[in-house]
Formats: sequence, C-alpha cells, structure tokens
Amino acid sequence: MPSPASITYFHGARLITGDGQTVITDGGIVVDDGVIVDIGPQEFLHVPENAARVDLTGKTVMPAIINPHGHIGYLRDATVSKENYSRENVLDHLHRLAYYGVSVFQSLGTDRDDVEINLRNAQRSGELDDPELPLLFTAGTGLVAPTPSEINGGPYFATDVVHEVATAEEARATVRQLARKQPDAIKFWVDDRWGTRNKLTPEVYTAIIEEAHHLGYPAIAHIFELADAKGVLRAGANGIAHMVRDPGPDAELIELLQRDDVFAFTSMGIQRTAYDTSGWLEEPALTDTVSVKARKEVGEHLASLTPEAVQKGMAGYAVLENSLRAYVEGGVRVLLSADTGARTQFFGIAEHREIESMVRAGMPVLQAIRSSSQLPAEVLGLTDRGTLEAGKRADLLVLDANPLDAIANTRRISAVYFAGHAIDREGLRARWAAETTA
Ligand SMILES: [Zn+2]
Repeated sequence: MPSPASITYFHGARLITGDGQTVITDGGIVVDDGVIVDIGPQEFLHVPENAARVDLTGKTVMPAIINPHGHIGYLRDATVSKENYSRENVLDHLHRLAYYGVSVFQSLGTDRDDVEINLRNAQRSGELDDPELPLLFTAGTGLVAPTPSEINGGPYFATDVVHEVATAEEARATVRQLARKQPDAIKFWVDDRWGTRNKLTPEVYTAIIEEAHHLGYPAIAHIFELADAKGVLRAGANGIAHMVRDPGPDAELIELLQRDDVFAFTSMGIQRTAYDTSGWLEEPALTDTVSVKARKEVGEHLASLTPEAVQKGMAGYAVLENSLRAYVEGGVRVLLSADTGARTQFFGIAEHREIESMVRAGMPVLQAIRSSSQLPAEVLGLTDRGTLEAGKRADLLVLDANPLDAIANTRRISAVYFAGHAIDREGLRARWAAETTA
C-alpha cells in the first residue's frame, strides 16, 4: 500500500479528460506520487482518509497542453534572432510555457550548438531534474536546399545553422549524421520564400524521408504550397508543419492526410496574430509575461498596417479556417501547432490562442483540447501523459472558468500542476515583473 501522506485528492471540479468526448461534473482526481490513480465522479471514488485535499469547486480541469511545433531560444521582447539564443533563454522560454500550463514542447529544427539536444538529454537522464520545467523535445537542426550565392530558404533566424543539402546523397549523409544525436524528429523546409529561394526537390526530400524512416525517425516537412504538401506526403512524410495557402486543401490532400501514420499541424495563430488589430496585446493573461517593450513594438507594427494589408492577411487566415474545417470533416489527425517563438508567437500564450483559433474556425471544443493533449502525446510517443485518466501523470491545467462556455477561458488559469506539483506561478510573475510593468 502506498503511504497516504503522498496522496492528494483534487475534488469538486468539472473535468475535461482530453479524450475528445468525456466531461465529468463534480469530479475527483486521486493522485499518488504525481500519478493519477483514480478519477471520476466524486461519489464513486475511494479516497484514503489521510489524503491531502485540494478543493476545486467551481473550477474546470483539463490536461496540460502539449505543443509539438515551435522554435525555442530565439525570442526576446518582440525580436526573434540568433543573438538572443542561449541556454538561459531556452530555460526562460520553458518557464514561460510552464506558467501557462504547457507541459511538453517540441522545437522543430533550429537547435544551435546542441543546446536543445543537451538540455533534452539532461532532462531524460535525470541530471536536470526540475519539476517546474516542461519536457523539451527537439528535432535538432533541420535540412534545407542551398540557394547559390544567397542565404538559404530556412527560417529567417536560423539560416546559418540549418543543413544545406543539394543532392539525394548529401541528404542521406546529413540525416545519418543528425541521427547520431538521436533527435525526436527529422525536420526539413520546402519553401521558396515567395520565389526568392531554392526549395528542396522531390528527389532530395524523398531521400531525407526514406533515410529518416530507415533510421527510425519521423519526418516533418515545412510546406506552404498544395503541390509540395502532396509531394512530401506521397514520399512518406509523417507530418506537415503548416496548412497550405490559397486555395487550400483538395480531396487528394485530405486523402493523403487520412493515413494512419500521418498528422497535420494547425499553425493558424501565427497568421492571425500578425494582422489582429482587435487589441489582443492588452489581455491580462498576456501581460503577465510579455514585456511592455514587446507589446509596444508589436502594437506599433499592427497600427502601421494599411487596411488593405490587414484585409489581405485575414483573407489568408480565412483559407486556414476553411482548411481546418476540411480536416475535421475528413477525420484528419490534427495537432495543435503554435509555431511558438517565431514572429510574435509568445511562449505559452500562443498555445492558448491557437486553441482559440481552432475553435473559432469551427472545431468542437473537446476535439480542440484533444488536439492539444491526447493526440500530440500519442504522436510524440508519450504514454505517461496527454489525458486525465488513471495511470497518467497528474499534469493539470486548472481554470477559473469553463472553456465549453467560451474557449478563451483556457487562459483564465487558476493553477498548473506538473506530476501533481504546483507550479509557482506567482514566483514566475515576480521574475518577469520588471519588464512586464511599466
Ligand atoms: Zn516552425
């Protein structure tokens, strides 16, 4: 028998379990040593007498968020650049994610000097044992086509660290070299950056995908064009990191995305945020962590946009909303993807705004929550988390209001628990106070 002293009973809340359908009203969760041992309506639970009790009456609990697509280490205030990159900044970003209840984060292909790989390894070996840090996943450094006598078409903040491969042979050799560090995925970019850069040819990206699979790694492609999305999926890619631009997906793309081993990332918020002039920078959940300087700079940028630019940007966003609806209708495995850390996708808040984007586009709330918990856990091979159920870690996002009433309520956070341990949110706010208050 476990000693009752290690047991905590969370009771009285509405529980959204993350499986896409279950909501338990007046629920209870029995947690022993960080793991859920029992969960259900309170009246059916056996609770050891000496258990510590946490009263969550009136609250809603959902699983902590798992974001499989972002770029850690580069953002500071509103600037994304290699000059900001450091182990300290990566750790700071992880703390910001924890503050908002993001318990797992995968950085996709922009590691620098193995900072991410080393940090991840230290977490997995137990050498870095901080209960308040989300689990870091990383694709290490990704692959891109060279553009002779020009900068390559990799992400603007990491063109100097991504690997340029011009031939299938180089692609295979580079994947083999990357595999020595055992990344969590192989990432590559197929993007001509509006006609200004070379992009990987089908022959080269097919070699990347085949070699990744041969060595046991999933292959994730950055794409924007419909033809490229189909091309990489036909070649066996497991995931596409973005939705396609106008005109959006066709029946063939949906069919390719319906395969069992394939998933699609949302990456909607990054487009909305860039043109959203509705005052999103002022919401209290955001001002807790985002600096005054960042808010001012982004606000000025948004104010400088012409009505035509806003209209064009939001038209592009409408295409993404249509795409998501087509995905949902087609039963595609959709994963939350906030592309956090790029542009002004602020750590932690971007994940919540992404869930909001999904629901505003028409995805049912419980399904959007599943796309931010159970499904990404499944894709990342995490069997110990992703849903609120017996046997899983007690990674809890406790909310003051019900997201089924309004999806923005996922940002009304009362508490965050990682493996039953309460994150010191007040301490974190104090750490950032100097920059977040004018
Ligand atoms: Zn990205």
